Amino acid sequence: MRSRIGKLVESGGELYLTCEEVIGFLLEYLDHELEPEEERNFERHLAICPSCVAYLATYRESIRLARGAEAAAPVPEPAPELVRAILAARGR
Ligand SMILES: [Zn+2]
Repeated sequence: MRSRIGKLVESGGELYLTCEEVIGFLLEYLDHELEPEEERNFERHLAICPSCVAYLATYRESIRLARGAEAAAPVPEPAPELVRAILAARGR
């Protein structure tokens, strides 16, 4: 099965996901629905990108709160305005 994550950038001979891809596949990552190779790429990106780590922490916390408050509630979508703000802040 081919990776659904198409955009990789090269840095120092290594390939990294872009922040856009990381944010776009965050839900799959948290639900462990990524291929092992995709998951490795995710973790490599997180190792070098504090802003995505911070975003991931915020996102996890919001899921936890939502599930704690209402067990039957659907998994929340990432706030579009937050995603846009992060992408804008990173100059995309
Ligand atoms: Zn990033």
